[in-house]
Amino acid sequence: MKFFYGFLLLIAFGLSGFSLHTVNQSPNGLRPVSDSLPKGWTEIKFDSLDMVNRMVYADTANFMHQKLYPCARCMLRPEVADALIQAGKLAKKQDLKLVIFDCYRPYALQLKMYEIVSNPKYVAKPGIGSNHNRGAAVDLSLIDKEGNLLDMGSNFDDFSEVSHYAHKGLKQNAAKNRKLLRDIMQQSGFTPYENEWWHFDYKKKDYDISVYIWDCEEPAQH
Ligand SMILES: [Zn+2]
Repeated sequence: MKFFYGFLLLIAFGLSGFSLHTVNQSPNGLRPVSDSLPKGWTEIKFDSLDMVNRMVYADTANFMHQKLYPCARCMLRPEVADALIQAGKLAKKQDLKLVIFDCYRPYALQLKMYEIVSNPKYVAKPGIGSNHNRGAAVDLSLIDKEGNLLDMGSNFDDFSEVSHYAHKGLKQNAAKNRKLLRDIMQQSGFTPYENEWWHFDYKKKDYDISVYIWDCEEPAQH
């Protein structure tokens, strides 16, 4: 896996011309995460924005049971990040918080996902790419003050018809919660996706597909 990420990084730096920045070694052996993002990217700072970080592909608890991301950071195009922050404010007015499952997804990782799912209804085809690959899509849900996810009638990344927004046979509460999330996101400048209640595209769509992969803090070496 390490080799895989190394390879992706090589592609990332090779194709995009990003320069490697110097990362200082701190006295305790931890490698600090660099805050210098490439131009045109913003990071969602979960704590200060009061959003919940559940970036599922930075862990194995996802439909592939594989950790795809080097660590759980949410990168978006600046306008998209602003729109998401606006959505967070609307959720807060209802005593809710946004729970973020996925943001920008490097294109090479999109290809890997397609290999596993191979259904264009749920994972964008190679070549076309997803708005996630452009930093212009977000997967998310809502959580209440007690930290309970709102019932949306299916789990995130349940690639079946029950995840279609207008699926018939949803409990009234789940349908209501889906609409609540959709209203918040539409009011903030996002477009919903009928096949996945959790997926929203930002309205502006002329961003390029990107291969940029973010830095991560490495565990202390003893
Ligand atoms: Zn999505």
